[in-house]
Amino acid sequence: MPSIFSRIVTGEIPCYKIAEDDHYLAFLDINPLAKGHTLVIPKREEDYLFDLTDAEIAGLMVFAKKVARAIEKAIPCSRIGVAVIGLEVPHAHVHLVPINGIYDIDFSKPKLKLSPEEFVEITGNIRTGF
Ligand code: 5GP
Repeated sequence: MPSIFSRIVTGEIPCYKIAEDDHYLAFLDINPLAKGHTLVIPKREEDYLFDLTDAEIAGLMVFAKKVARAIEKAIPCSRIGVAVIGLEVPHAHVHLVPINGIYDIDFSKPKLKLSPEEFVEITGNIRTGF
């Protein structure tokens, strides 16, 4: 059975899409730690990040860099924090989280509850930054 992220890749499940190319996709995390919290995934399904090929993992990080630059332009923050957890969704992904301090990337803290309108606005703001 395809992962929930593979179902997002095919469009079966909607997402707030930030960017994509032939191999990678970036979309807003539905339970964000901060406004602009984005997930970057390879379209090819692989559970564990370090089971990606060298080319895939390098390409994923280059793609994530472009996404991070766009997030920085849209969301006031001191930098984009990067995290790999992978305990919930078995499809390799990198979290990009706008942060001002270490607490902003504490995955044990309560997530933000954003309205669809807020997600749409954030998506638009980040997309203009490419
Ligand atoms: P992890 O696997 O890194 O522990 O966490 C998976 C992340 O994916 C979580 O931050 C969670 O909020 C996010 N997530 C889970 N399901 C969906 C979904 O259907 N859509 C989106 N946009 N994010 C999801």
